[in-house]
Amino acid sequence: MASRSLSLPIRHRWRMSCYFMPRKGDPKYHPKTQRAQNHLVQNGDTAELVSHRLLLDLGFIKPADKAPGMYHYLPMAMRSMDKLMGLIDAVMMKYDCQKVQLPTLTSSHLWEKSERLDSMGKELMKVKDRRDREFVLSPTHEEVITRMIGSGPPLPRKELPVKLYQITPKIRDEMRCKFGLIRSREFIMKDLYTFDLSQENAMETYETMNEAYNEFFQLLNVPFVKVVGKSGNMGGDLSHEYQLPSKIGQDNLLICGACHRGKNAEVSTSLSDPTCDQCKGTHLWQQHKGIEVGHTFYLGRRYSQSLGAMVNPGNGKPIPAEMGCYGLGVSRIFAASLEVLQTCPTKLSWPKLIAPFTLVILAPKKGSKEYAHFQDILEFYDDVNSRLLPNDVMLDDRDNLTIGRKLDEAKTIGFPYIVVFGKTFFNADNPELELYSAETDTTMMLSPEAVKNFLNRANSERCPNLSL
Ligand SMILES: [Zn+2]
Repeated sequence: MASRSLSLPIRHRWRMSCYFMPRKGDPKYHPKTQRAQNHLVQNGDTAELVSHRLLLDLGFIKPADKAPGMYHYLPMAMRSMDKLMGLIDAVMMKYDCQKVQLPTLTSSHLWEKSERLDSMGKELMKVKDRRDREFVLSPTHEEVITRMIGSGPPLPRKELPVKLYQITPKIRDEMRCKFGLIRSREFIMKDLYTFDLSQENAMETYETMNEAYNEFFQLLNVPFVKVVGKSGNMGGDLSHEYQLPSKIGQDNLLICGACHRGKNAEVSTSLSDPTCDQCKGTHLWQQHKGIEVGHTFYLGRRYSQSLGAMVNPGNGKPIPAEMGCYGLGVSRIFAASLEVLQTCPTKLSWPKLIAPFTLVILAPKKGSKEYAHFQDILEFYDDVNSRLLPNDVMLDDRDNLTIGRKLDEAKTIGFPYIVVFGKTFFNADNPELELYSAETDTTMMLSPEAVKNFLNRANSERCPNLSL
């Protein structure tokens, strides 16, 4: 089949003057009477993080009214979330996983069959339909995907392993919402489920998917540790957690001083046993706090047995599938990355691949001498936004703000690169632009061509599979 590519010319301009970004103190969005409102009170969140506060103040996210632990993701946050999900899709594709979408509402009967309806307790949110049938607003989908497979013929041996994932909103009725998107009641999660013939095959799949997780966190370029995890109510007997070390983390980790591998303290029966399970060294454990952002489980036949997901070995009767499940907390990764990378209380620091825009171009204030050359700036913007960093450039064209104000705000937002059309561009024969790099916190004075060459190189650091 001939491939057909749809390439529309990029004519769109991302303009700050009309971008929906309700910042704190912006009179356009906050009439004086409302300005004093405190989101923490109405949102029931008593713990404050600087990164969360910046996301709220800069108009990236907004708490839902009278719905604790629920948030609106506004355009800036969605740009970043879309990049993050694009990166996850790219990694999943590399490892032959196929994307699906499962229903959010799942029948309570399935949860009874797996015996989790009661054991998950009040964290499961339930609703009834008009015929009085009970449904669960799913926090996870082992039951529903196992039953989906189980309702068809046994999976043929040569198609194994089957690896299906989705990236969808999930609901968990948290007793205590905390730290904004890090512990919210509605969150975005990537959940993958795998089906194999034998335990040996399932362990191979388990190792492969753990490699995929390592690769993902390395690409994202955030500091992380993989530790032996607690299996909780998933019911398997092998699991690993991916944790971002942070003092605000809710998990206690024991990390081996020699091999830097470790475990969640909950799986350790005794702190006094100094022997590392991995390297057999007897160094003392180092204690760290971590934010759990990913979890892999070997499930065995825990779900396939009761919900009838079968595989066909080809030389005998169908048998229950050997399963694994693999989660990534997408909205939690978004928020926790900002928290662990934060070095300055007045700036967001992004993993470069998921910054909402890779570049912002600052135009001079209306009425200034430089404003007469606005057409030059638009031409520069259009070239960079269509050719060098496609669809990934913001133009700060607000005509009531000085360059100084715009630069301060651009640094607070944390754009990886900022280009300033200042006085040096307009005087004389040797026009130069200011190019600021957030990573190095330095400014270079370069000719427009040199800036373009630099940005062309920056393009290679952008998110793969960017479908914005
Ligand atoms: Zn060790």
